[in-house]
Amino acid sequence: MAVLKVLVYPDERLRQKSQPVMKFDEFLLNFVGDLEETMRLGPPSVGIAAPQVGRFERIILVDVSCKPEIKNHGRLVMINPEIADKEGNVVGREGCLSVPDYTGNVSRWERIQVRAFDESGARQTYDMEGFEARAVQHEMDHLNGLLFLDRLVSRRDGLFRRKVYGKRP
Ligand SMILES: [Zn+2]
Repeated sequence: MAVLKVLVYPDERLRQKSQPVMKFDEFLLNFVGDLEETMRLGPPSVGIAAPQVGRFERIILVDVSCKPEIKNHGRLVMINPEIADKEGNVVGREGCLSVPDYTGNVSRWERIQVRAFDESGARQTYDMEGFEARAVQHEMDHLNGLLFLDRLVSRRDGLFRRKVYGKRP
């Protein structure tokens, strides 16, 4: 496995739309392994999307289990994800490996039902809410070339400068 280089804003490639995955094979599994290593060994992060490492396919990884007080599904690999149902709105703070110097307040669906393939090609459906639902929506935006910066609730006071986006201890 390998840690991949993460594209950083304002890299134009982050604006590119990603294509559906057509083939579930060992190359996909290897890539998911590399993507996961990149997420886990870099600055603390609860999700990553393939286009952030320059691979424009509809693959995201989310794992919010580091916050055990939050309802979650553990490690999630979602391929060609689609939001099938959604409900409610909630504003919360988001950060991004590709926008290391800022965090921002963004409004998201509070509860979602997501349909996706897992890495073995099996269809899955997940009902989720709160922080995990937020993380999935954030990562799905990357697949369409969108960043949290595009969704700030306010340009004037919705953006916050990070002091240090530190390494893991
Ligand atoms: Zn992001």
